[in-house]
Amino acid sequence: MKIVALTGAGISRESGIPTFRGRGGFWEGTRPEELATPRAFFRDPEKVWRWYCWRREIISRARPNRAHEILAKMEREHQLWIITQNVDGLHQRAGSRRVIELHGNIWRLKCTSCGRTWEDPGACGKIPPRCPRCGALARPDVVWFGESLPTQALRKSFELAEWAEVFLVVGTSGLVQPAAELPFIAKGFGARVMVVNPERTPHADIAEVFIQDKATSGMEKVYELLQNKGPS
Ligand code: NAD
Ligand code: ZN
Repeated sequence: MKIVALTGAGISRESGIPTFRGRGGFWEGTRPEELATPRAFFRDPEKVWRWYCWRREIISRARPNRAHEILAKMEREHQLWIITQNVDGLHQRAGSRRVIELHGNIWRLKCTSCGRTWEDPGACGKIPPRCPRCGALARPDVVWFGESLPTQALRKSFELAEWAEVFLVVGTSGLVQPAAELPFIAKGFGARVMVVNPERTPHADIAEVFIQDKATSGMEKVYELLQNKGPS
């Protein structure tokens, strides 16, 4: 079966990684939506970096959960791609190989001047970090509010939306564009849409199967359904 899974912050919630919009959505009195912007960064790079170092610490202590694991297992049994809005790398740590990162990765840095990118795993050192080549300010290689998505990843995601027979939507609010558009495109091209989320989202309205549940138990149900007879 040709399966595409679009995942958002909700799939990593049970690994202990906070979503932006849920509880605990403030950090040092500032909302993440006000920190994850180019403007915030250039105004106070050290503050934004402190926030990213805090998030990196949480992510480094987190482990992939059952939902990540089931998707990795499904990749071995089906033709499956993951399109994730997460920057935490937990899909790859769970063993998934075909992962498209729409919003970048928190373990990669990018120079704000020469554009060079490099891997930077582990704890933060001196902040804000500098580019080893030109010495300019370095930023996390993630997509901030108001920025465009990586072209290649976006193009591949649209192709996959057309290709999918089953389109899973797990733990995403459906509010952040253009990722939110993908399930609608998939549906238009004939995919069966399945949604896992404890809350009702705009995607639930177009889903053939809406599993109103957390990612871990919801993905167990999805796996069962696809094993037995497909979603319909
Ligand atoms: P979002 O817009 O994807 O919304 C989170 C969704 O998860 C909501 O619909 C919520 O109902 C659902 N949810 C909550 N608990 C859940 C659970 N246990 N199981 C399944 N679903 C659950 O995400 P956001 O937090 O608003 O963040 C927006 C963007 O910020 C992300 O797309 C990402 O780029 C970045 N972000 C990344 C991470 C990460 O990498 N883990 C975490 C926070 C934010
Ligand atoms: Zn540089």
